[in-house]
Amino acid sequence: MPSLPKKTDLVRGHADSGMNRSAAACYNPGLRSYKKIPAISMSTRQAQFERASARIPGGVNSPARSFKSVGGTPLFIESAEGARVRDTDGHEYIDYVGSFGPMIVGHAHPDVVAAVNRAAAAGLSFGAPTTRETDLAETLCERVPSLDMVRLVNSGTEATMSALRLARGFTGRNLIVKFAGCYHGHVDALLVNAGSGALTHGTPSSPGVPPAVVADTLTLPYNDVSEAFSLFQERGDEIACVIVEPVAGNMNCVPPAPGFLEALRELCSEHGALLIFDEVMTGFRVGPGCAQERFGIEPDLTALGKVIGGGLPVGAFGGRRDIMAQLAPLGPIYQAGTLSGNPLATAAGLATLEIVGEPGFFDTLEARTATLLAGLRERAEKAGVALRTNQVGAMFGLFFTDAPAVRCLDDVTACDTERFAAFFCAMLEEGIYLAPSAFEAGFLSAAHDDGVIEQTLEAAERAFARL
Ligand SMILES: *Cc1c(COP(=O)(O)O)cnc(C)c1O
Repeated sequence: MPSLPKKTDLVRGHADSGMNRSAAACYNPGLRSYKKIPAISMSTRQAQFERASARIPGGVNSPARSFKSVGGTPLFIESAEGARVRDTDGHEYIDYVGSFGPMIVGHAHPDVVAAVNRAAAAGLSFGAPTTRETDLAETLCERVPSLDMVRLVNSGTEATMSALRLARGFTGRNLIVKFAGCYHGHVDALLVNAGSGALTHGTPSSPGVPPAVVADTLTLPYNDVSEAFSLFQERGDEIACVIVEPVAGNMNCVPPAPGFLEALRELCSEHGALLIFDEVMTGFRVGPGCAQERFGIEPDLTALGKVIGGGLPVGAFGGRRDIMAQLAPLGPIYQAGTLSGNPLATAAGLATLEIVGEPGFFDTLEARTATLLAGLRERAEKAGVALRTNQVGAMFGLFFTDAPAVRCLDDVTACDTERFAAFFCAMLEEGIYLAPSAFEAGFLSAAHDDGVIEQTLEAAERAFARL
């Protein structure tokens, strides 16, 4: 990859070329309009975005990459290394997106890149088993408390979709319970808006999902034990499974309230329903044995993705042996994938898991995340900006609110999203790349060392002052 500019060049570059980049691109909530972009300073990425938008809906292959909610043009990334990404305009940013989670060891980690290169040279895909698939399956089962067996797939969506089918097939029941604000990929049955109460039916949250497909999906408020209890009292014997993010990471970052996951575990066991932890985001992100080890709760099934692929497309689902034994070809419940267990993906995943398995890996990462958040709160307070933060392991959330706590979707939506957008833009101008939405969590990597965090805090101080 091309060598990245030095930090000092970078900082100067930002000051000099602000107009060229962010000022030209960012929505200014104060003005409630897009700043005028002089045609002459049209950046490379703006041209690239226009070109992309002609052929790719919205110019992006996943809506989370869009800058729709913050205004402006997405960065087009040319290369990345460690904690930094570099865009096609030659600007470098400290990255807190990390591909929305997978890049926990930092971008282009030499060990991961070498493992992928070695794998590629030996053939890209075979449609026959490889021992590396077993290596990855063994690694996952050794480290994640509830896993007896796993199946590899190609995305988090595939993992949750397959886990739901397995839960329904295993229990012979149809009802699925999910929580408002949790995201489990774009699975039809889970694209549902909550009904007015736990017992009323939700409606599809996307056109193209027939109401019949979500008719068996019930949505509860996150962290609300009494609602879950009432639902199980009423319909417990029809519920196939409860699917939950053990730390919600798709409505920004919302940790489970004490007792919440325990209550779900008890209710499921008592009523013969399966508990599914969607650990696609939390898996090897909040600790070496995922959220289930951290919180001491064993689900029946677990969905994984993101980190276990180290940046390549991977997912996995697994759990109790008696349940997994119902999957084809052992059992009657069908699931398949041409590229599942792909040699490159398993190589990247194993190399990444080896690094995160080193002693102290998560302690360091968690401590640095805490340092970052404490520094942000302090600087926000100094600037008179109401900011709350949530953190579990190496994932975090920033909330522009003076509410005492952020515990569920309603709390998150009550935060000041315009202020977030302004902060996002100010940080981008300062060379800090946050996820372009107030509803996404932030992620650190092992490459975010003390110097990177200090640089982020200095940038934040200037950004807060401008809010
Ligand atoms: C990202 C994510 C998914 C979807 O994974 P994809 O690989 O994008 O399909 C599912 N569940 C959770 C909790 C996620 O964060």
